[in-house]
Amino acid sequence: MNALAERIARSIAGNGPLTIATFMTMALHDPYFGFYAVRESIGAQGAFTTAPEISQIFGELMGLWCAQVWCDQGRPAHPRLVELGPGRGTLMADALRALRVMPEFCDSLEIVLVEASPVLEAMQRERLATCGVALRWVKSLSDIEPDRPLFLIANEFLDALPIRQFVRTERGWCERMVTLDTSGELAFALSPFAAAIQPPPRRGDADLGAVFELAPAALALVEDVGRMLTAEGGAALFVDYGYADQGFGETLQAVRHHQRAGILDAPGESDLSAHVDFASLARNAAPASAHGPVSQQAFLRQLGIAARAEQLAARNPDAASEVAAGVARLLNPESMGTLFKVFALAPGNAPPLPGF
Ligand code: SAH
Repeated sequence: MNALAERIARSIAGNGPLTIATFMTMALHDPYFGFYAVRESIGAQGAFTTAPEISQIFGELMGLWCAQVWCDQGRPAHPRLVELGPGRGTLMADALRALRVMPEFCDSLEIVLVEASPVLEAMQRERLATCGVALRWVKSLSDIEPDRPLFLIANEFLDALPIRQFVRTERGWCERMVTLDTSGELAFALSPFAAAIQPPPRRGDADLGAVFELAPAALALVEDVGRMLTAEGGAALFVDYGYADQGFGETLQAVRHHQRAGILDAPGESDLSAHVDFASLARNAAPASAHGPVSQQAFLRQLGIAARAEQLAARNPDAASEVAAGVARLLNPESMGTLFKVFALAPGNAPPLPGF
């Protein structure tokens, strides 16, 4: 058992079993041992790598998408650009560089980065120190006043939010909890009582043993975003792996050094994430309207990734094969092209969004 597992075990011994959501929060954000709180989690050295770390074009296109939506909505005054979970700051750096072609948008922006991890915030501050615009950091979206048009971007953020799991039994939907086995190790167990939840309609029946995942934090977040967009305008762009319409099933996974690991093994040393249930998020964001999900491949193609790759390669022929390899990883179905989905929210009366 590592030090965080011992801490979690002591909490269970004293206060009883934890929901998986509480376990995830401790494993990811414990201030001393949490995965995001203390280690360099993202990139080649970390547990996993992400689209903005693979190609600069990813962040560039997300930034330009915001500028295009701002133009389409009639260039509202005082727009605010918010990134949720900016990781190493790469996406924002690439977006801001691309946005220099649109000074009317770029110069009027207030920019806010939402980051829970002090280690990653420090890395973002360093990475963005020379970007030439004022930036502000907050710990949570709820720290941002809902008083300006909101242009929100988030890559692989929703999948990091804690989920709860419920298993269909003869007694009803029982919550899967984290508890201790007879030898004192962390173990899963079902709550003896059925929970008062009703999963939203989905494909197929819930057979005995079916698993339903509920993401309360993600649902609350899109509800807030939907309210902000409806009041002030703007749009939100989320890229994540997830599903639009699916039967029951569990998607919670642990990744350590680019390999799958056991969820309860070595908490704090692996990334925990779950697929995003876009249909439920769409319902919760109403009256804001939901767009997509579309595949990352289709979205980036529509936004002109091929033309931008050609331009980069022509400008720097030595890097041509590197540019092509990065783009291929973002687009190919074998890597990220179809597993990753793009989902957007906008006010119900907004013009169509680019890429959807
Ligand atoms: N968007 C980045 C990083 C993705 S990893 C990229 O594409 O490379 C998830 C990011 O979200 C990390 O920066 C992590 O610290 C942050 N994060 C996770 N849960 C969070 C929460 N509840 N509140 C704020 N930030 C969170």
